[in-house]
Amino acid sequence: MGATRSVEALGADFLWVVYHDYTSLGRAKAVTRDRFAEAVERGVTFAKANWDIAIDDELIPHPGFAADSGDFIARPDLATLVRLPHRPRVAQAFSDLLDEDGRPWDGDPRGRLRHQVEELGGLGLTARVAFEAEFQLMRPGEGGWEPADHGRMFTVDEIEARWAWCEQLLDGLSTMHVPVHQLGKEYGIGQYELSLLPADPVTAVDRYLLARQLVKALARDAGLVATFMPKPRADAPGNGLHVHVSLWNADGTDATADPRDPAALSALGGAAVAGLLDHAGAQAAIGSATPNSYKRLLPGSWAPAHVCWAFGNRAALVRVPSRGAGRRLEYRSGDASGSPYLHLAGLLAAIIDGIRRRAAPPAPVNDDIGHWPDELVRERGIARLPGSLEEALAALEGDDLMLEMLGPIIAEHYPAVKTYEASAYRAALAASGQADSEVTEWERTTYLEPL
Ligand code: GLU
Ligand code: MG
Repeated sequence: MGATRSVEALGADFLWVVYHDYTSLGRAKAVTRDRFAEAVERGVTFAKANWDIAIDDELIPHPGFAADSGDFIARPDLATLVRLPHRPRVAQAFSDLLDEDGRPWDGDPRGRLRHQVEELGGLGLTARVAFEAEFQLMRPGEGGWEPADHGRMFTVDEIEARWAWCEQLLDGLSTMHVPVHQLGKEYGIGQYELSLLPADPVTAVDRYLLARQLVKALARDAGLVATFMPKPRADAPGNGLHVHVSLWNADGTDATADPRDPAALSALGGAAVAGLLDHAGAQAAIGSATPNSYKRLLPGSWAPAHVCWAFGNRAALVRVPSRGAGRRLEYRSGDASGSPYLHLAGLLAAIIDGIRRRAAPPAPVNDDIGHWPDELVRERGIARLPGSLEEALAALEGDDLMLEMLGPIIAEHYPAVKTYEASAYRAALAASGQADSEVTEWERTTYLEPL
């Protein structure tokens, strides 16, 4: 009952019980005050079939979970309980997912991340993680949604133009205890970047999803749409979700920095980088989870297209942005279209694999590889990231470690849902007569508002 009192202590009239699916969409049920105790103690039920419904709201053909597959339970994790600043009568909690007998359910993406955190702990390490999310503000125009602002990157003028909205966002995040590193006007038209401060892995994802929910809600309330869609327009910069990971020893020392050389990585840091590069193909299927994602991962776009790493270099997949202690690894290919719990679980699994194998990374690529001729890339033996969701899914199918990271339920259902999504895109592309490099109306309809 103590838990129930803590919901009531927030003074809310309603509780939204939320979980996030493979596309990172929050799914919710609202309960009224008289049902708080029941919701907190027993959770709320959802149909397992929800996991086989794709982002276009279609149940996939031959679903593994259908009308007769029963339920799972979303039980509020009270550590995530928060009052929503923009909906003053509402409290919200993210959930632990349980099976019908009340046991932790293997199909829970948040649970899969917890599992990797435990594995890392087995090596005597902890991770601190920070998300850096790009998004675009769009306003209604004659031909659909168009960029809301046209000012220049990082200008005071642009922050001025939107400051009332930015204030609401920053105040709201502070009320929800989501510590912000920086908010800025990014390079693209109408594009912003919100970076959060580091936290333990599960908290970092929870906070990012909460921040994204608030960004979208405040934009909607202002008659705009905030989209985290990877590439809304072929001719404008995409929206990345960069993940910063640092590794720490049990005694609180930085595990990735080389104590003798502030410009180098420790052997363990190098092994972590090697692991990330070795599993980058399969990781793309999880972190770059839609056909649209691959229109962002183009050479020379500041989003990575090659499997390489470097110090400082923004063209690399894994960038080491800082020097000395406090050093971190920035993974740059992901976007907001996949489950950030699974994306981060995949990154940690790859890091753990590299460390266990004591793998050595290849030489860093210090130039802007996005402008290298293909020949030079081949000569240097540098792989390309998958060029399509189908290619990424094939890489995932061939990567036992990543499939094991997903666990038996997600490893079965996730590729099936994504294969359906890839074929729905192909059909829409063929009907449009457009080239694969263009962004189709189907993509904008399917992704722009939901993501
Ligand atoms: N917008 C770029 C991307 O899609 C990243 C730009 C940057 O912050 O370096 O990843
Ligand atoms: Mg950026």
